[in-house]
Amino acid sequence: MYNAYFGVKKPENEPVLSYAVGSIERAKLKEKLNELKQAEIEIPLIIGGKEVRTGNTAKCIIPHDKNHVLATYHIAGKKEIEQAIKSALDARKEWEAMPWQHRASIFLKAAELLAGPYRYAINAATMLGQSKTAYQAEIDSACEIIDFLRFNAHFMSQIYNEQPASTNNAWNRIEYRPLEGFVLAVTPFNFTAIGGNLAASPAMMGNVVVWKPSAAAIYSNYLLMKIFKEAGLPDGVINFIPSSGSEIGSIAFSHKDFAGVHFTGSTEVFNTMWRSIGQNINKYGSYPKIVGETGGKDFVFAHMDADIDSLRTALIQGAFEFQGQKCSAASRAYIPESIWSSLKQQLIDEVSTIKMGDVEDFSNFVSAVIDKKSFDKINEYIDYVKNSDDATIICGGKSDDSKGYFVQPTIIVANSAHFKTMTEEIFGPVLTIYVYKDEDFDKTLNLCDESTPYALTGAIFSKDRSVLVKMENALKHSAGNLYINDKPTGAVVGQQPFGGGRASGTNDKAGSKLNLLRWTNPRVIKETFVSPKDYKYPFMESK
Ligand code: NAD
Repeated sequence: MYNAYFGVKKPENEPVLSYAVGSIERAKLKEKLNELKQAEIEIPLIIGGKEVRTGNTAKCIIPHDKNHVLATYHIAGKKEIEQAIKSALDARKEWEAMPWQHRASIFLKAAELLAGPYRYAINAATMLGQSKTAYQAEIDSACEIIDFLRFNAHFMSQIYNEQPASTNNAWNRIEYRPLEGFVLAVTPFNFTAIGGNLAASPAMMGNVVVWKPSAAAIYSNYLLMKIFKEAGLPDGVINFIPSSGSEIGSIAFSHKDFAGVHFTGSTEVFNTMWRSIGQNINKYGSYPKIVGETGGKDFVFAHMDADIDSLRTALIQGAFEFQGQKCSAASRAYIPESIWSSLKQQLIDEVSTIKMGDVEDFSNFVSAVIDKKSFDKINEYIDYVKNSDDATIICGGKSDDSKGYFVQPTIIVANSAHFKTMTEEIFGPVLTIYVYKDEDFDKTLNLCDESTPYALTGAIFSKDRSVLVKMENALKHSAGNLYINDKPTGAVVGQQPFGGGRASGTNDKAGSKLNLLRWTNPRVIKETFVSPKDYKYPFMESK
């Protein structure tokens, strides 16, 4: 019997461990890295809680040591995708009926397992499978997913507590029902936390989910799936289905019980999904929820009075951490001529100190990019610049895939704000700078706003409050997350809810109430205590 209101208190953000020399965490992480590298594992699909092997397999490798195989994973075909949808739908009734505080408890337990017993395993898996440094793994696969799970449980309890006004004679209530059908979670390679959260947040709200992880993040994502199971997630609530994106899309989007897609990835793929959902609209029982956080071309815009040390640091950290493979990575910058001469040399000097290599050498700041496709794409852009008269590479520009997919941190100076690398998403360690005349400040703000279709993150630098106000207004719709005098990356759950507009997504702000609300289908109940007994109103009387 439940006869009390249960709340989930607002959590603190999970503390980020330092992995400094001599720390316990450093020793434990190194031990775990060693252990994972010794074993080559097999990764099955998980459908209805059961392991399924298809025999159609591929390998999870280490991007910075490409011949090292971490795992062989099974790939779902049509039959398994249909099974996964069926098992999600079979689990729906019971999961929807489960008291919400028990749903919350399962995910709060998963957070605790990640914070404690699995912290080093999930970080080591992310370091090896996605080539993240220890720090980049810690802020993603430990802290961010833990924060997503804890904060979402808190936001869910807040949502359930939000109730409409009532009168003495009518009690109005809202119940936040899950969607009628299944949710497809299609997740990117670049954040283990995003993989887990896109599947877990609709599930926490009472939905059943088919989760298609990115081929390049299966190694860490599979461990997350096992942790959800260990935390008590009932069979079928989340089904783990590595598969081809287009195949799962075509089956899921033409299913009558398709109720929503929770996507993070490129704009191009999201547009394909949206089109396909539109074409199938007559098949569905309900209008599906379409939630997608997509690409970016994130900017740093400096005014002539910007603090150069902060600006330089923001450009380097913003552009090159995790090899520039964050959707929020600084990839274009607008720098006034008056500060460029000193900033240019400082950038060149500082970038030359960046160490690149294996993530197990903790002195490395950058490692390899995710795979051959990405390596080739980044190199195509670099070659384009090498053959162009409209831009110059001032540092980096070399790459080497003999051992792993290494691309040097590269800075390009473009003569035009419309140059190819100023406007297209590259998703690698490549920053393009446009140097503007100080007197063209206003005009350049317009260029920044208008020259790309994206609007994800941006950073503005000035010491003058009135200039900041001007920049903030001019760039009002250019970013969903704007940073003042800081790098445009590193959003923290509960502090900077994340997402952008325009071609960068539906801006449903992962890790906030706004996102969780998308996974509900509210029902309003009005109960009248003393009902009217006559259809006529007083105004209808003649006297
Ligand atoms: P991607 O679009 O290549 O892949 C994302 C997912 O979609 C993968 O699981 C992939 O297998 C799947 N997919 C590919 N083609 C598909 C299809 N036709 N139908 C259905 N699914 C399909 O993206 P990625 O390389 O994994 O990630 C990088 C991209 O993600 C960048 O564009 C980046 O900006 C974006 N991103 C955005 C955010 C954000 O919050 N806005 C966060 C992280 C990454």
